[in-house]
This record gives sequence, structure tokens and C-alpha cells, in this order.
Amino acid sequence: MRYANSSASSLPGHPDSWSYIARLTEDVATPITRGRVVGGSSAVNGAQFMRAVPDYYDEWASLGCAKWSFHEVLPHFRAIEADLDFGATSLHGADGPIRVQRTTRSELAPVASAFAEAAIDAGHPWVEDLNGADSAGVGALPLNIVDGIRQNAGAAFVEPVAERPNLYILDQTRVNRVLSQDNSVVGVAVQRGTESATINADQVVLSAGALNSPQLLMLSGIGPGSLLHAHGVGVVVDNDAVGRNLMDHAAIALPFAVRADFRTPYSHPVAEVSLHYASDRHAGPGEDMRMFPYLHSMRTMLTRTGPSRGHLKDAIDSVRGFHPVRALGSLRGTSLSTMRHQYRHRNDLAIHCAIGAPASRGRLAIDSADPEAPPVLEYRYLSDPEDRSRLCGAVRLAVELLHHRSFGAIGALPTADVDLRRADGRELDVWIRSNITTAFHSVGTARMGSANDDKAVVDQYCRVRGMQGLRVVDLSVLPLLMTRGPNATAVMLGHRAAALIDQFDP
Ligand SMILES: Cc1cc2nc3c(=O)[nH]c(=O)nc-3n(C[C@H](O)[C@H](O)[C@H](O)COP(=O)(O)OP(=O)(O)OC[C@H]3O[C@@H](n4cnc5c(N)ncnc54)[C@H](O)[C@@H]3O)c2cc1C
Repeated sequence: MRYANSSASSLPGHPDSWSYIARLTEDVATPITRGRVVGGSSAVNGAQFMRAVPDYYDEWASLGCAKWSFHEVLPHFRAIEADLDFGATSLHGADGPIRVQRTTRSELAPVASAFAEAAIDAGHPWVEDLNGADSAGVGALPLNIVDGIRQNAGAAFVEPVAERPNLYILDQTRVNRVLSQDNSVVGVAVQRGTESATINADQVVLSAGALNSPQLLMLSGIGPGSLLHAHGVGVVVDNDAVGRNLMDHAAIALPFAVRADFRTPYSHPVAEVSLHYASDRHAGPGEDMRMFPYLHSMRTMLTRTGPSRGHLKDAIDSVRGFHPVRALGSLRGTSLSTMRHQYRHRNDLAIHCAIGAPASRGRLAIDSADPEAPPVLEYRYLSDPEDRSRLCGAVRLAVELLHHRSFGAIGALPTADVDLRRADGRELDVWIRSNITTAFHSVGTARMGSANDDKAVVDQYCRVRGMQGLRVVDLSVLPLLMTRGPNATAVMLGHRAAALIDQFDP
């Protein structure tokens, strides 16, 4: 699991993951995965460690959350990282526990280099630092990978303090609900195997992630009153906002093959460059779209673990509860029909295209008062027509990049089951709808807002409205989705929230 290029433990249905069915649109449902280990999803993720642009945090602050402006969060971004390329600067830190580095431009893998050259010829600038202040364009991905090892949040922050006498790590233990009396927290109910227990506490911080924290709030009586009532959960705080505002990056994986004898050396990461740009529909600051090419085939990602080679069958056999082909397709974001079509191409690669700042919003709900029952996830991707046309534009751009002469030397060939270059708008729309996938970047389900915003779930100190002693500190609280992966922001959020608790509510 610690090898960043190894994806077997990221497969939905793997024993180290929480796996759910996500309804992406009315027609498409797919298995999704979240890390079920110390470090959470940061232990199984793609290790792209990217900040949003400064305007993103300022927009968040403008929603009555002044403590989260770029000026306020920058010291925390600097504190969590050791940027091995830029060192200590006004933007970067050199001493934090998460080491971040990029592949130098001259050492990019051929596929990454071809993609960057094609994007530059299409008018996008080369960006030296995608975590810099002005970072629209194509550049090398900041990755929290050093010597092939993913610097996950558990290894960076928990392992070094695991022996502290005031820290107890209960493994294999699930929180079932938060317990309260008269709207004050009194503890949590937990379960380990068949054993149940209560842990008393007058302060609880939920960090179960954007899918499980809102579920836990609902199971604890905090959420839409009618929904809780329907499932026999006593209502403690009636708040319709819990579970609303579910956002993630709706995405498409544009499949392509390269020459049969061509392989990216395994020493290269799974992705090395990324393009960020504003679509012609984008009105706000910064960029709203992103895309990057995968450098390794699915087979390589599933069978290589660090320096050794495993068996595809072992990876596939680890999948429980889903058809393995569905699990494989979900991980790369490839639909079943494209998977079948691609199966002949052993060196299947893809350009991942995503709507960074989607207009569509989904929702999360409980389906039962049983903590073991999975939450219902309705992402409602493409429900806003703007998102459909933006994704169409992205696919057209990606197809053009693939046809650039820079890809010629490696024999790149789109392998979608329709000719996307010739497809008209309607055909493209149909292809996108049936191949839509997700980036596993869910946020927003317990939204932060100003103290008098009754559509918010937490205030800017992450305190749950209507409940004394309860905080949510994870990506559930983001009011907006950023164009980049959210992991760096999740780590910053934990660091910032800890400082706010120390400062204002020790
Ligand atoms: C396959 C994959 C690839 C990704 N790639 C990237 C990437 O390259 N870059 C990027 O920025 N982001 C990426 N992400 C997203 C990123 O990893 C997450 O956004 C980030 O880890 C923070 O997520 P979170 O706050 O939702 O919580 P999580 O990281 O999911 O953590 C939640 C934790 O709570 C635990 N938990 C949940 N429920 C309970 C319960 N009831 N009782 C006890 N414990 C519980 C879980 O086991 C987990 O440890 C990826 C995610 C996945 C799944």
C-alpha cells in the first residue's frame, strides 16, 4: 500500500477500503473507494499534492469564514510541507512532514512530455510551480512521493507521535454515533467486531471524511428531520444542510494506446504533468478545468508493487462485493464498454479530463439507522447543462492533443469505442454520458458558513451548529470544490483547525 504506483489497495472492494456504490447520474452507478486505514484516503490516493489557487480560499473566506482566506491558510500550507524543489520561500515550506516534489521538465516520461508539448502548442503556458500563485497552464505535478513511497497523512502526522501517553489509537474500531444530552456531546458509541463500547468525552472532532462524517451526523440525530424521522433516528438538530452540497470532479477517461513495444519505466509515477485551464464557459477567477495523462497501463498499476511484480489475479481476487471488472473500470474511470474495447490493448493509457469547478450539486443520505448500511450517494453529475458542454469541450481538446505530432513518436492512438474526432455534439454527449466517471474527490456535505447562515452545518471554527462540543474537521466542511485534488487542502484544514481550537477554544 505504501508504494505510490501500486493501485491494488485502491480498488473498490479491497479489504483496506470502504466501498460504496455512487450514483453519478440517473443512468450511471459505479463502485467508489475510500481508504480504511490510518491516514484515510491519503494512504491509497494518487498522491497529487496540490493547493487550490489563492482566489479559491478568498472566495471561501467571503462566505463569512474570514479565518480561511489565503492569507490565513498560507502559513499552514507552508508548515505541512517540505517542498524539495522550491525550499523555503514566501509560498513554500521546507521543514514540514509531507515531502513534495515534481519531476523536472527534462526528465518527464515520453507520454508526459508529449502531452506538455501538445498543450503548449495549443496555447497553454508552461508553469514552473502548479502550487504557485498563478498556475493556469501545464506543469509538473507536485507529488507527495519520495523514492516511490507515498507520504500519507498517517505516516506523516500520526506515526511520529503514536507513543504519546495521551494518544490512543483504536484499530479495527468503528464509530457508530456521537452521543449527546441536551444538545451537548457526552461521547461516542464505538464497535470492534461484535463488541460495543461507549467512550465518554465532552469534546469530539469528527474526521471521518466527506462521505462518513455526514452519515455519522445523521446517525447521531443531526440532519434533515424528516429523513431522520423516516429511519427512526431521534432528531437532535434538524438541519437540512447535512448531506447537501455533495461535490466531486465529474470526469472522463479518454482511452488511448501507444506502440506495442513502448513502456514508461516504472520509476516514473502514475501521472507527471497536469493541464489547468479556463473553459469558455468559465466566469470566475482562475481555471475551471483540468486534464492529465496516465503514464502506466492498468495492468502495470495493479501488478507492480514497489520493486517487485505481483499477479493481476491477486489484485482481482482481493475485490469483494463487486464484479472485479467494475472495480477495475471505476479505478481508472473507464466504463465497462470501453474496458471491453480496450482489453485488446495491453498498454492501455488514458487522458483524465475533469470539471474542476462543477455547477452540479448532489446529495448524501442515510438509508437506514444501521451504521453498517452504506450511505446513499447521488452525485447528479451533468445535471447542470453548463457541465455537459464543458466536458464536451474537454474531450475535444484532449482528442486534439492526442493527435499532436508530439504523440506521433510513441504511436498514440485513441481507443474509444466511437470516433471522437468525427463525433458530432449529440454523439459526443451520448459517449460522455455513458462513460462518465468520478475523481474520488468528494467534498461539501457538512458545509461551513457564517454564524448566522442557517444553511451551513459548521461555523468557521468547524463547530457543528446547534450542538455543544462537536466539530467536523475534514473535507465535508468545504463550501466549494477546488479545481485540483483536495488532499493538500484536507491536510491544511486539519492543521488550521487544530490551531483555531488551541487559540480560541482550548
Ligand atoms: C483512489 C483515490 C485517489 C485519490 N487521488 C487523489 C490525489 O491524487 N490527490 C488528491 O488531492 N486527492 C486524491 N484523492 C482524495 C483524497 O485522498 C481525499 O480527499 C483526502 O484523503 C481527504 O479525504 P476525506 O477528508 O474525505 O477523508 P478520508 O481521507 O477518506 O479519511 C476518513 C477516515 O475516517 C475513517 N472513518 C470513516 N468512517 C469511520 C467510522 N464510522 N469510524 C471510524 N473511522 C471512520 C476512514 O477509515 C478514514 O481513515 C483520492 C481519493 C481516492 C479514494
